[in-house]
Formats: sequence, C-alpha cells, structure tokens
Amino acid sequence: MLNLKDNIFTIFIMLGQNCNLNCKYCMQHTLINTIQDKSVINDEIFDFVMHHADKQSQPIDIRFYGGEPLLYFNDIKDIVFKLKEANVSFSIISNGKLLSKNIVEFFNNNKFTSCAISWDGKNVLETRHYDVFKQKEDLLLQIKNLNVDGVISAYNSLDDYIEALLPYQEKYFKLNQKIFPFFNEIIMDAGACFSDLTDFNYEKVEEQAKNIIDNFLIATTKINEELTVKDKMYMLLLTMLCQQINNDNKNYTNSYCANGIHVLNLDLEGNLYQCHNNWIKIGSIYDDYDTYMSKAKKLDNMAAKNFVDSNCKNCSVLSLCKGGCPLVSSKIRQSTNFCKIRQTLFEPIINFINDALSVHGDFNKLKGKY
Ligand code: SF4
Ligand code: SF4
Repeated sequence: MLNLKDNIFTIFIMLGQNCNLNCKYCMQHTLINTIQDKSVINDEIFDFVMHHADKQSQPIDIRFYGGEPLLYFNDIKDIVFKLKEANVSFSIISNGKLLSKNIVEFFNNNKFTSCAISWDGKNVLETRHYDVFKQKEDLLLQIKNLNVDGVISAYNSLDDYIEALLPYQEKYFKLNQKIFPFFNEIIMDAGACFSDLTDFNYEKVEEQAKNIIDNFLIATTKINEELTVKDKMYMLLLTMLCQQINNDNKNYTNSYCANGIHVLNLDLEGNLYQCHNNWIKIGSIYDDYDTYMSKAKKLDNMAAKNFVDSNCKNCSVLSLCKGGCPLVSSKIRQSTNFCKIRQTLFEPIINFINDALSVHGDFNKLKGKY
C-alpha cells in the first residue's frame, strides 16, 4: 500500500460527480436530485487513511466533496462511522440544497470542524440559480461550525458580500455567540467562463477595497465601544488575509494548494487524483511511493512553469495570490482578466497591511491617510 512520507493535512473524499444544481461557473454536472444508493466502498481506503492519520501530529481533515456531497449522505455516514476513532476531523463543502434537521444534527454530533455552504450574496440566483439562505436559513443557523463560501465575481463584490451576509451573521451571533467564517475565492477564469461572470467594474472593485479598509479601521480604532457584528466581520476578513500573506511565502514555485502531496484527493475505490476539481487520476492507494510522487509532482512543475513564464515574480499581489492556481496556465492568465481582478482587489489591501506593519499595528496613526 502507498506509504507517503510528507505530512498530510487534508484528504478530499471525492464521492462522485453528480450534482443537484447547475451553477454558472461549474464545468462538471450530471443533475440528480435525490440521495444516491450507497456505493460499494473499498474498505482498504480506511486502512490507507488510518495508517497516515496515525503518523500525523495534527488530525487529518477528511473533507467530503462532490459533485454535491450530500447526494452521497449514506456514504458519508459510513465513512464517518468507520473513521470516527482515528486521528481525523471531518469537513464538507456543499450547496446545502439537501440539508435537513437530521443532517445538521449529524454534522454537529460528529467532529465536523467546518461545514462550508456555498452562497454568493444578493445576486446568488444569477450565479447558482438557488438561494440556500432563502430556502434553509433556520437549518444553516443551527450548524455549529458553519462556514459560508462565496465566489467573488462580477455579480458579487467583496464588500457587497459582507453587507449581504450581515443580517445572517447577526442572527448566528445571537444563537451561537460567534460569527461564521466567510471564505471568499475569486472566480477562476480558465478561459471558458461565461463572460458576464468576469465582466468586472474595476472602479467599483477599487472602491470596495477602500470600503473594506475604512470599515476595518473603524472597527480597530474603537475605544470603550463594544464591537458590532459588522466590526467583527471586517476584523475576521483582515485576519484571514494576513494569515494568507504569512503562509509559506517561499513556496511560490510549488503548487500553493499542495494538492497531490500534502492534500490528497481520494475516491471511494482508492484512486488518487491530481486535484479534486479536475478528476485527473494520478495513481491509487496501491502505488509505490516513487511512482505516485513522480505523477503528483507534475502540479508543482506546472506551478513552477507558470511562475517562470509569467509576471508573478514582480507582481505586487504575489504575497496574497501565491502565483494562482497551477491549472490556469500563464497563457490563459495573459488572455483573460485572471490577474487584473486579483491585482485590483488585493493591491490596496496589501498596501494597507504593509502600512499597518510600519506603524507596528497602531491603527490610529493611519486614520489620516485612509
Ligand atoms: S495576480 Fe497574476 S501575476 Fe500576480 S501573482 Fe497572481 S497569477 Fe501571478
Ligand atoms: S490545482 Fe487549482 S483548482 Fe485545484 S485546488 Fe489547487 S488552486 Fe484549486
């Protein structure tokens, strides 16, 4: 059985490609609307996971992924039952359409450290054709480790997104005494994207970056005033961005997402894939180390090639963008607005963070400048 030597942080369990939505930015779908019959799971995937989990100092994050993972809820239950005593935690990325009381209880009772539900703000019907907050608000607010995952596109600017999330965050805070993380990713135009999704108004994007900084400054310079939920949201966002800037700064020429090496993509039969988004098979749990690694390293080679062939090394937002997804070639980057949107949104934020570092975090000193 494959015995990996590097630390493993996450194993994506690739349950299948079926989905019950038809999101505009998604390339892969077979529309299915009911929970599938249980698959035959190769029991040796449990030995593989447990063998590697035993070697880690931190629990491995077992992340359920599809298609739409809740279509495979019976398989998820099986896997959680078999692995719950191992050195692992569980997480899921779902569109939420199949959420039920039973499923929320299952998450809350079974070491699910993150339940990421996709939602794109007030124009979500334009991008996902389904508004999970409108349909499932009560259930969402009951998820103990809720995480709302939004795609930034021409329909969803970052500051508008925060505004749209605010009423839900306020209710969630009342119920759970915390706010939920709202991870944002910028739409990935791999050259075949609907053009309306990437038809950005760059002046608006710049303005939104400025609003984020203004609101963050308001929050951090409050004296003797209680922080509002809105303040907490801006502080959380800036904290997440700072963490990203701090992470693995030297590794630009590796695939920053670490897929194939520290992040494994495993299906129920024991096959391993390059990335959970492209379903390109690179091996299986029965490979020997060198055979698997030589294929897994190809993603790093793509990252390195992109880096060398592109403007990344001189780019003002490299510290946040990390050279982008290795699957988006430098040729595609040059012919699309892949870099322009990242630079327009991130540059003012990175400048602000650098200014904050230069005054040792005394944000009062920056008030006149911003
Ligand atoms: S924005 Fe473009 S040039 Fe800049 S780091 Fe990202 S991929 Fe590289
Ligand atoms: S290879 Fe690209 S799409 Fe896949 S996880 Fe990494 S960054 Fe995301």
